[in-house]
Amino acid sequence: MYFLRYHAIIWGFRLYYIMKEQIYLDNAATTKVMTEVSGAAAYAMTEAYGNPSSLHHMGIEAERLITYSKKQIMLALGVTSEQGEIIFTSGATEGNNTAIFGVTETYGKRKKRVVTTTVEHPSVEKAFDRLEEKGFEVVRVSPDENGEITAESLVSAVNENTCLISAMLVNNENGYILPVGEAFQKIKKRYPECFTHCDCVQGFEKLPLSQKKLQVDIITMSGHKIHAPKGIGAMFIRKGIRLTPLMVGGGQQKGIRSGTEPVPMIYAFGKAVEVLNGNLSERYSHASEINAYAREKLSEIGAVILSDVSASPYILSLAVPDIRSETMLHFLEERNIYVSSGSACSKGKTSDVPTEFKVSERYLDSIIRLSFSFETSKSDIDALCEAVSDGMKNLAKIRK
Ligand code: PLP
Repeated sequence: MYFLRYHAIIWGFRLYYIMKEQIYLDNAATTKVMTEVSGAAAYAMTEAYGNPSSLHHMGIEAERLITYSKKQIMLALGVTSEQGEIIFTSGATEGNNTAIFGVTETYGKRKKRVVTTTVEHPSVEKAFDRLEEKGFEVVRVSPDENGEITAESLVSAVNENTCLISAMLVNNENGYILPVGEAFQKIKKRYPECFTHCDCVQGFEKLPLSQKKLQVDIITMSGHKIHAPKGIGAMFIRKGIRLTPLMVGGGQQKGIRSGTEPVPMIYAFGKAVEVLNGNLSERYSHASEINAYAREKLSEIGAVILSDVSASPYILSLAVPDIRSETMLHFLEERNIYVSSGSACSKGKTSDVPTEFKVSERYLDSIIRLSFSFETSKSDIDALCEAVSDGMKNLAKIRK
């Protein structure tokens, strides 16, 4: 009896949270899986569940789903199978590690210089720390006094001994767009033997992307940032590049990523790309409108906008002066509004990225990151502003 009552209470709480309308403004951390996408995963799990390496028709159907997903990603990047390979990974963390260690293990025996920036995601930052421990000369390019990383600063960090340059396209904490295309084009002209890698996680299916315009040899992407499930990512690897794999095994995916391919996740990723590719510019305009509206309304109530207007419209970083990020985050959470304090990937660890971007010390403890999706509405922003404004009054009272 007690057991039943306990479960009834737990389910009551669960239902309450499910029914209550949520305002989810944390899409740079992760996104809701689209219905078409979960349907695709369900099909691959319950009907096309063969092993893609099997020679019978169940295997061939599973292989077809993988080929479909590769095609969608290639279309999105503007590449063909003559130009390179799509390799599926467990996410962008694995993709970034595979790119950085894969290139340097194969090509870094003589060329010991590698270049990155000081505003990368930890999956790139820490991989470069490890290269440094292994004896590589690591050059980390920082934003200048205006908080800008110029193409010239990236180009001039590269020399004839440089094996790899890795720079992200869109910063995950404030949406800053790095001049990767301009820099990589110049680098490829001057140093054709230097490999270029771009972590495109926060740009893929958000900004128009072209592998050719970026002049990038290896691109990493992640499924859960684009309404596909967590645990799936992809890499584009230009033809001719030989990456030393992180793992050895059955030799699937050209030996770069051994292990039976997770077909449901791969098919779900491909489906998300297909759906989003069809409406990239409408979604971009929608995000721009929401972003402009949020900037205006939040400024009116006294929040300080930190993201530059030229940043990706999908991410808006702001500070609510003198209120700690976590305090405001939990205050908003009580009203079912979900935001992030800086970057969710760092799990509560303070990030150095705002300091790198020259955010005033006064605001460093008060940063909130909003990140939008096609589902975000102006009324979500109105509700947010009302809650932030209440927070500013109530939390200020607590402080006194
Ligand atoms: N790179 C960037 C820019 C990110 O924002 C993230 C996650 O937030 C990652 C890499 C890691 O992606 P994943 O969670 O797929 O490993």
